[in-house]
Amino acid sequence: MRFARNIFKGEGIGMLPVVHQQNIEQVNHNFIAAYSIGDRTRTFLKVQDGCDYPCTYCTIPLARGGSRSDTIENVVARAQQIAASGVKEIVLTGVNLGDFGIRDGQRQDRFFDLVTALDEVEGIERIRISSIEPNLLSNDIIEFVAKSKRFVPHFHIPLQSGSNKILGLMKRRYQRELYTERVAKIKEVMPNCCIGVDVIVGFPGETQADFLDTYEFLNGLDISYLHVFTYSEREQTEAASMKGKVVGSTRFERNKMLHILSDKKRRAFYQSQIGTNAQVLFEDDQKNGYMHGFTKNYVKVKAKYDPLMVNELKEVKLVELSADGEVEVAELETSYAHELKLGEPLVGSLNA
Ligand code: SF4
Repeated sequence: MRFARNIFKGEGIGMLPVVHQQNIEQVNHNFIAAYSIGDRTRTFLKVQDGCDYPCTYCTIPLARGGSRSDTIENVVARAQQIAASGVKEIVLTGVNLGDFGIRDGQRQDRFFDLVTALDEVEGIERIRISSIEPNLLSNDIIEFVAKSKRFVPHFHIPLQSGSNKILGLMKRRYQRELYTERVAKIKEVMPNCCIGVDVIVGFPGETQADFLDTYEFLNGLDISYLHVFTYSEREQTEAASMKGKVVGSTRFERNKMLHILSDKKRRAFYQSQIGTNAQVLFEDDQKNGYMHGFTKNYVKVKAKYDPLMVNELKEVKLVELSADGEVEVAELETSYAHELKLGEPLVGSLNA
């Protein structure tokens, strides 16, 4: 849900993408396909909209209606168009992406079917799943991503609370034990997978003990970063009239604690990748003479700006975690030199 809200504002991707929308109401019963253009590196492709879940804090089912999706055929055709435009990475988005496959109010496909079909689209180097509910992230999907040609080892999985009591009040469709299992399964088959977590603090009824339960739960999980949200009342939701409101200053304090935990988790994850070689997709940004890119497993790296590297996939060595929390790579000139060496006659090597 968070990704869906932010994507079309262009958050975190350096520039505001243009949204290309196409009304395909006649052929697809109210699903409106959309994808972002204007970013050379990455395109956000919406494949699903609406939600049938009953989360007590959320207005999306009211505002956006029930779950509905594009067809696999349409999504594949759009992915082929995107590939032909030179974009290297697609981010699949939806309000409840893992629920992909409902059309005309009936389940007609599964998200897994979409994933396997997209893996065959030539020309797209990377496909990233924006966010998926833990109860919809099946072993099939995890195992497929682990051996996929294009899907990258990065999952963003909403948790919302690490307290089963609060999960019950939220009417989430899982308890924390399921979340632990999902993380363990991912790490079993993809030890270097990046795992992001959405969490809400200050939900009605969340006592200090419940919050610390969440904190300790997250602290003990092998995850890579958190997106922390402070609960705020939304009209027409069940939660807005629940007892046990948490005062604003406490909500703020809890948010701060989880932000600090997120920084710790991210740094530990990045640190675990130092010394490894990784493929980076460099983006079209420049700050203080540096450019940025992401590895497949979502480590943010920086390198000296070189316009020739924009929208290029490069194998780099991750050498150091800098004070600003980004990972520095070995001089990119080294990789050019390496490429040149590969093209040089063997005698060059013998003389060396
Ligand atoms: S899964 Fe819950 S939080 Fe997400 S969009 Fe549906 S109702 Fe809202």
